Amino acid sequence: AKKEGSGQIKVFRQRMLQKLLESRTLEHDMAMALVNKEFVVYYQPIVDSFTQDIYSYEALIRWVHPLKGLLSPDSFIPVAEKTGMINEMGKSVLEMACREAASWAVPAKISVNVSPVQLSSKAFAGIVLSILKETGLQADRLELEVTESSLFAGSSTPVNTLNKLRSLGVKISIDDFGTGYSSLSRLSKLAFDKIKIDKSFVHSISTQEDALTIIKLITGMAKSLNMKTVAEGVETQEQLENLQALGCDLAQGYLFGKPQPGIDGKIRNG
Ligand code: C2E
Ligand code: CA
Ligand code: CA
Ligand code: CA
Repeated sequence: AKKEGSGQIKVFRQRMLQKLLESRTLEHDMAMALVNKEFVVYYQPIVDSFTQDIYSYEALIRWVHPLKGLLSPDSFIPVAEKTGMINEMGKSVLEMACREAASWAVPAKISVNVSPVQLSSKAFAGIVLSILKETGLQADRLELEVTESSLFAGSSTPVNTLNKLRSLGVKISIDDFGTGYSSLSRLSKLAFDKIKIDKSFVHSISTQEDALTIIKLITGMAKSLNMKTVAEGVETQEQLENLQALGCDLAQGYLFGKPQPGIDGKIRNG
């Protein structure tokens, strides 16, 4: 039995080492990728649900990997967060996105995702302000997308940071709304501009009555708190019609446009 046990430990240790090695490689590759500028930003339109006029573009990071091709953020953001590399990466996304938006012929807003790790840094507000200054983008054209969970992690830094940025004109959206566990009373004490309804609800809007009910609750709550609602992941005309009927202000999804690389000085239509 003793022998068998130590054999299992050996296998276990081997697996641990393998995992460690893999994450080390990814970490190393990511550090190199930052230096080599392999991270790029794609842009996806967010439109008015009723007129389909463009309201903003969401910046979504991609890794143009020299061997593996285009990698989606879900495959590397978690490691970037664990290692703290997300701070550097997020700063670079903000810079690219603000520069891109400043060059557009129309004053659409730019929405940038912010990791809880970035928000918990006391330096974050200063970073945002210096990027606005450096790129010449007006503060009220920048919108930060934050998740519920990053707001109540214990420290007061995230909320203070967002209040400060908001007082200077930057807009704040709560991303993936409905998937977290934040209490409504706590949320209502914070001033936000927008709530993004998670795509999981949008996708089941016409098949599950629950989803419709939840979206109805969210849009109702948002109205009474003077916030706008954005539905993510809108793929069909039927979903759009349901969302319009519920009074959802803005919509984003493949129905209107997939994320695409930015184009200097122009905004692609359709
Ligand atoms: P998210 O912020 O919830 O972004 C929405 C995701 O839905 C994006 O995936 C987008 O490409 C995808 N999407 C848009 N329309 C549709 C649709 O009609 N149907 C479906 N099925 N999906 C749609 P993406 O680009 O792979 O990003 C995944 C997540 O990675 C994002 O979720 C966000 O949490 C994170 N992320 C992306 N860029 C950044 C970044 O610069 N910084 C940080 N911290 N996180 C980022
Ligand atoms: Ca987002
Ligand atoms: Ca989402
Ligand atoms: Ca998300």
